[in-house]
Amino acid sequence: MFYKSTRNSEVKVSSAQAITQGISVEGGLFVPESIPSLSLDEIKSIGEMKYADRAAYIFSKYLTDFTEAEIRYCTDNAYSTKNFETESISEIAHLFDGTYMLELWHGPTCAFKDMALQILPYFLTTSAKKIKLDKKIVILVATSGDTGKAALEGFKDVEGTSILVFYPEDGVSPMQKRQMKTQEGGNVGVCAIKGNFDDCQNGVKSIFTDNDVKKQLDDNGMMFSSANSINWGRLVPQVVYYVSAYAELVKDGEIELGEKINIVVPTGNFGNILAAYYAKHMGVPVNKLICASNINNVLTDFINTGIYDRNRKFYATVSPSMDILISSNLERLLYIMTGDNDALINEWFGKLASEGRYEVNDDVKKKLKAEFAAGFCDDASTKQAISDVYKKYSYTCDTHTAVAVKVYNDYKAETGDTTKTVIASTASPYKFSAAVLEALTGGMSDIDEYEMVDQIAALSDIPVPAALAGLKNKPDRFNDTIEKKDQKQYVLDTLGI
Ligand SMILES: *Cc1c(COP(=O)(O)O)cnc(C)c1O
Repeated sequence: MFYKSTRNSEVKVSSAQAITQGISVEGGLFVPESIPSLSLDEIKSIGEMKYADRAAYIFSKYLTDFTEAEIRYCTDNAYSTKNFETESISEIAHLFDGTYMLELWHGPTCAFKDMALQILPYFLTTSAKKIKLDKKIVILVATSGDTGKAALEGFKDVEGTSILVFYPEDGVSPMQKRQMKTQEGGNVGVCAIKGNFDDCQNGVKSIFTDNDVKKQLDDNGMMFSSANSINWGRLVPQVVYYVSAYAELVKDGEIELGEKINIVVPTGNFGNILAAYYAKHMGVPVNKLICASNINNVLTDFINTGIYDRNRKFYATVSPSMDILISSNLERLLYIMTGDNDALINEWFGKLASEGRYEVNDDVKKKLKAEFAAGFCDDASTKQAISDVYKKYSYTCDTHTAVAVKVYNDYKAETGDTTKTVIASTASPYKFSAAVLEALTGGMSDIDEYEMVDQIAALSDIPVPAALAGLKNKPDRFNDTIEKKDQKQYVLDTLGI
């Protein structure tokens, strides 16, 4: 299996190269040259395996340059009860007739990003060894909350790596700040920037591309890499849980082998729903992929009209991990849908960069409509959905998952489609406790994060994740706050060069 670039189809690299490089030299994303297939019998047999084995089975079809032992090393280290609260890694909650919550947040940081960021460090270090890059991998992350913490937990004490995370001093939630300041591990660093998320991100980007810094790292046997969601090593682990969920539902007798399901995904960067698309095209029987957005509804409009237009107001919502106007992974979908047409991708994404807008052709519009449905909802409906689900089914969902629930209910009312449906549940309700508590109790309160968690726990059947409960008594380890102009020097000092 080779990987091509969405901006130059002539590029042909192995998975180890795609994962270490992250992004192709001309700026394209790496895409497998074809989507490997799974027969229904294979899917059925996957249901008999434990999660790490399911993952290894699927990775063997994509990472064909990895040996079986290398894949096992990655999956066994990532998907164990060392890192996840439950034996099955991802859990399926039966919500109501024919609707299932695929809970992807039983990892160390209580959001679905753990599913990929627990394994990415092993993919990266194994890939680097395979292509004989004998260097220490230095990960720099700019974060507005979830990704930084998930990357810290993933890379913590992984041999041959170190990680440094920058966050905006006043731009993350109190719980997220505590999660990062108390981070354990001998190879980790966390620092606040006096500025906003863009300042952090611009700083990291300019350090990444600074030839002087690169040379200094090289002289000291180090290299930069990225834990960003455009890396193929973050996408392929997400394909696993959709195949796994289908196989599990067959095994449990909830669906017949071959029966189609809908999949609803609360979407921001389009990574998680693209993974569902891959699962479908591998052979998982899927009727509709339903793309759910908050009021930043650029994707809803795109799927319904074929026009992508980021020239619109940006809203801060109660589902902040979906507050995004440029969905990077869409580029991969369009590359596939145009039949690997790199010229069209260059044209459209060139327009996106220069004008903030592009329109796809009629053929792609048709394909989008055939595969996807899309909808969005605002904060008031999000909280209403949390409250409705709680009252009807005694189930507490987080704000992102609630967007998916609302969009799915709208879809069902509009289409009358009664296909059994899996909703991707992307975060623990305790992670976004202020909005969840407000939805459950109908009122706002000025108590601190820990008290909110206690109050939700008193109302909900879902136990407080140990990782969040334990935070209260952990000492802060990282208290540095710096000016944005000092970011580069801070990196060099931390690395001791
Ligand atoms: C990142 C994130 C999303 C969006 O996922 P994408 O892959 O970017 O579409 C949804 N919910 C939560 C909780 C997240 O952290």
